[in-house]
Amino acid sequence: MERIYNFSAGPAMLPQEVLEQARDELLNWHGCGMSVMEMTHRGKDFSAIIAQAEGDLRELLNVPANYKVLFLQGGATMQFAQIPLNLLAGRSADYIVTGAWSKKAFKEANKVGSARLVATTEASNFTRLPQKAEISFDPDAAYLHVCTNETVHGVEMHDISALEASVPLVADMSSHILSRPVDISQYNLVYGGAQKNIGPAGLTLVIVREDLLGRAPANIPTMLDYAVQAENGSMLNTPPTYSIYIAGLVFQWLKKQGGLAAMEQTNIAKAKLLYETIDTSCLYHNPVEPACRSRMNIPFTLNKPELDESFIAEAKKQGIVSIKGHKMVGGMRASIYNAMPLEGVQALVSFMQDFENQYG
Ligand code: PMP
Repeated sequence: MERIYNFSAGPAMLPQEVLEQARDELLNWHGCGMSVMEMTHRGKDFSAIIAQAEGDLRELLNVPANYKVLFLQGGATMQFAQIPLNLLAGRSADYIVTGAWSKKAFKEANKVGSARLVATTEASNFTRLPQKAEISFDPDAAYLHVCTNETVHGVEMHDISALEASVPLVADMSSHILSRPVDISQYNLVYGGAQKNIGPAGLTLVIVREDLLGRAPANIPTMLDYAVQAENGSMLNTPPTYSIYIAGLVFQWLKKQGGLAAMEQTNIAKAKLLYETIDTSCLYHNPVEPACRSRMNIPFTLNKPELDESFIAEAKKQGIVSIKGHKMVGGMRASIYNAMPLEGVQALVSFMQDFENQYG
């Protein structure tokens, strides 16, 4: 059967080589006579799998030695609560709202404790990022939270020079982590759900600087305490073993591609092709300011919305699926994470041009 091009925002495509390797190893992992799904997380086989995954991830992202890598559960949504639970310590935190996801994170933090909105671009429909002069940092904040890639609105922070706060920086990188090199030392905590650029759903990655551990109040639930998770090597309870294994295969695949610098070049080429197609057409439109357009999630509308349904149906016939936009912005959205090959984006733009010629 032919594989299709899946433009879903997540769960998203995985590299075909990874799926093939998982298939080959499914019944009998490395001669041990069972699947990774069936093995104890306390044994030497799984210990080797998680250690290799962590080592490869540290290498890819150049994670400094004074940061812990945690393989958790609950998705990025759980982090919206877990971060303030661990880090507020009776203070307030600063939140910058640049789209649907940072807005949710801000709202959740206010359920757990006190969070202050220091900048929002909602009045511009989240089509830009705030300028430095628009942000009023609290020097006493427990931390500053940002979402560096807004999956729904397609806004990406390509540089963080506007964020010169003196407090710990916490970033939701769910939808662009591993898409390019990033200097982890500029952040104090980075997190993301796995189901876009890392692996299958069910795994949540947290990379946290050690000095942030141990700030949680004594009554924090044990499962939610970063310090306890770190002490237990992410194995306080049964971790999502199969998701960690697949993530490990993705990390090895990324290393084979030449690491994150090489991925970034491919991702730039893919995004450029799609944005150029949109910007030079009379039918398609992307509202985001060019300097902060996402390379991963590219929303676009048709200036004849009555064509939306036939666009989606015709695309499907060409093997292009999950292209419908989020209901908040409407239109279409192409999510083009690491595993989406250049050929997939070429197929999409060629379809878009044909569609415009026929109906535009
Ligand atoms: N943050 C961002 C930027 C996201 O894109 C998503 C999911 N699309 C989330 C948080 C929520 O992630 P999860 O479903 O893993 O809880």
